[in-house]
Amino acid sequence: MYDAIIIGSGPNGLAAAIALAQKGLSVKVFEAAATVGGGTRTQELTLPGFHHDVCSAIHPMAVGSPFLKTLPLEQYGLEWIHPAYPLAHPLDDEPAVIMHRSLNDTIQELGADARAYHALFAPYIEHWEELAPELLSPLNSLPSHPLLMSKFGLRALRSAEGLADTWFQTKRAKALFAGLAAHSILPLDQISTSAIGLVLGIIGHKIGWPLPKGGSHKITKALAAHFESLGGEIETEAKIETLRELPQAKVILFGNTPKQILRIAGNQLPDSYAHKLRSFKYGAGVFKIDIALGGPIPWKDERCGQAGTVHLGGTLHEIVQSERQIGQGVCPQKPYVLLTQQSMFDSSRAPVGKHTVWAYCHVPNGSTQDMTEPILRQIERFAPGFRDLMLDYHTMNTSAMEAYNPNYIGGDINGGRQDITQLFTRPAGLLNPYNIPGTSMFICSSSTPPGGGVHGMCGYHAAQAALKYLGTKQG
Ligand SMILES: Cc1cc2nc3c(=O)[nH]c(=O)nc-3n(C[C@H](O)[C@H](O)[C@H](O)COP(=O)(O)OP(=O)(O)OC[C@H]3O[C@@H](n4cnc5c(N)ncnc54)[C@H](O)[C@@H]3O)c2cc1C
Repeated sequence: MYDAIIIGSGPNGLAAAIALAQKGLSVKVFEAAATVGGGTRTQELTLPGFHHDVCSAIHPMAVGSPFLKTLPLEQYGLEWIHPAYPLAHPLDDEPAVIMHRSLNDTIQELGADARAYHALFAPYIEHWEELAPELLSPLNSLPSHPLLMSKFGLRALRSAEGLADTWFQTKRAKALFAGLAAHSILPLDQISTSAIGLVLGIIGHKIGWPLPKGGSHKITKALAAHFESLGGEIETEAKIETLRELPQAKVILFGNTPKQILRIAGNQLPDSYAHKLRSFKYGAGVFKIDIALGGPIPWKDERCGQAGTVHLGGTLHEIVQSERQIGQGVCPQKPYVLLTQQSMFDSSRAPVGKHTVWAYCHVPNGSTQDMTEPILRQIERFAPGFRDLMLDYHTMNTSAMEAYNPNYIGGDINGGRQDITQLFTRPAGLLNPYNIPGTSMFICSSSTPPGGGVHGMCGYHAAQAALKYLGTKQG
């Protein structure tokens, strides 16, 4: 009998496992795939010697995570690389907008919007250490910094389109903010889409947007090694289809999303809770392309080559249009594309002189449309001659995404739609979102607050809920 069993070895499952093992509990993790990692694996998807991040690539949330930063992950080989610039946002016929780590250097890029940009981000950059634990927690406690949180909330609750249009005057600042906010994978006229833009901007300036040396897999490999050093057990190639397959345990934590939990736990869920899980909404999907390149990307603006991430979508209006179409069930012909170029900063990713390119765009949930051409056109727009350097490429549509990781329902990489109705209380609209009421089961995946991203905070909070439950039982 184990104290705790965890299904899924993504960053949240492993964070939960560590938080429980730290308290001396016996913990076992079951993972369907052959290796741990969930959304953080790195593989030779194209040619030998080209190491591509299959899912996540850039990790400000991991470095800024209040829980992960307490762990000795560097002892297990995790090393962060900071590109010269966290982000570049190229525009037609003018220099790209560069988001520097330095706020002051960034405002030099923004002309008439220098003061506005400073006013939007500076108060929160200064107070990120207080803000982070609040933002990365469920809503079940009063904020310890209510004034700071309410000021942040007033801006964060706005639509990104509305905020960018009214706060800024210039095309450059509007486009930069739209690119940040479009990480929400929501139409940008929806309320609260500013929140993601603000958080990513704040941590871009406070922490940077780093990548792990050797690939994203290094993060979960380090988490797994640390967990095992605490006495934890991991079994891979063990896809759990029903609870009957599991050994006995005092608590079970699901690193899965509602659809899978309904299937695995079936009739052991309270009826009203199962009903809520059935109403859970999944978000848009992604189409991803990984490319082996014969040289660096020939950016029109050479500074883009020094940025870890490049947002290819053009103006605020274009990005709004692209994300709106996805909300309407249409694949955009001019998609907003997120591109990273890890090998520019990490020589272990590709053979000498060659490079890896990671790029994806949003598509309607479940879409199987091939977005290779629209993505390549957006890259060529800002880097003419790019296609001539392509040696090989590998694509994944939403079905391939879900086949790769059963948590990506319809290609949704965030474990559910992150809109205002679900963001803080997902998956069942409860203030304590981790417990499955009346059972010894918990949810620790990104389907709980604070949602998608590699930060482990869903796992950490779920582990705290499980520890509280076990404490009550013993008491
Ligand atoms: C293309 C893409 C790009 C992304 N980019 C970034 C990025 O740059 N930065 C960032 O922070 N985040 C990024 N993300 C999101 C991030 O990867 C996820 O939010 C994060 O991995 C979620 O962690 P998790 O532990 O909740 O679930 P996952 O990482 O999805 O892990 C779930 C694990 O559970 C296993 N599993 C599922 N069902 C079962 C079962 N029945 N039995 C046993 N095991 C099971 C799966 O195999 C998987 O290993 C990206 C994701 C994708 C797909």
